[in-house]
Amino acid sequence: MFIGHFGAGFALKPAARKVSLGTLFLSAQFLDLLWPVFLLLGVERVEIDPGNTKLTPLDFVHYPITHSLLGAFCWAVLVGVIYALVRKYKTGAWVCGIAVFSHWVLDLLVHRPDLPLVPGESLRIGLGLWNHPTVEMILEFAIFVVGLWLYLRTTRATDRTGTWALVGLVAFLVAIHIGNIMGPPPPSVEAIGWLGNAQWLFVIWAYWVDRHRTIVNWCGASARTTTSQTPPTGRIHGQTR
Ligand SMILES: [Zn+2]
Repeated sequence: MFIGHFGAGFALKPAARKVSLGTLFLSAQFLDLLWPVFLLLGVERVEIDPGNTKLTPLDFVHYPITHSLLGAFCWAVLVGVIYALVRKYKTGAWVCGIAVFSHWVLDLLVHRPDLPLVPGESLRIGLGLWNHPTVEMILEFAIFVVGLWLYLRTTRATDRTGTWALVGLVAFLVAIHIGNIMGPPPPSVEAIGWLGNAQWLFVIWAYWVDRHRTIVNWCGASARTTTSQTPPTGRIHGQTR
């Protein structure tokens, strides 16, 4: 699962409009942002094993800290609490926590049974959609498209950067996703680790995009414009009566 996680980040914007897309991406992809660090430190392990599933050449041998159910829950709580303390925005904190945990749920759909419930010797689960490439690709792309649609419905570009930086971000994510599916297996575990760290680029890019977009209300006008130009609802009713 790659762009599906970013789709989840996009999709959560309407639930907490004041949270930047960058923070939503960081949260939705948090487990996979930690994972390369733990890989490079030798704490978690992956092996390159073409054919492990039909869609990924990776065998996720050991990743209890980032990808166990308990681990994901703890990271979700941590991110939510940190967000609440820093930004004092309760809804945003809940949404960031949910975004972190959504990563594990989406991984559960696609991984073969390699996701541990708790660190240590425990049951490993996974529904294995990576062995059903057509279903997996349609599902993941659908999550991405619906998420993007929700983000576009919730925000509007305030300048050209707000439009074109988003177009570039989407194009780049799709290109990387297709490259992951069609390309050759990674040359080494170190390469996976370093390339994985490069995902921070998408987080920074998303902060940049979000700074050049504003929230819209359901009529499509920007929230700032609406509050300054539209009289209070009661007055409108009074005038029409
Ligand atoms: Zn993951």
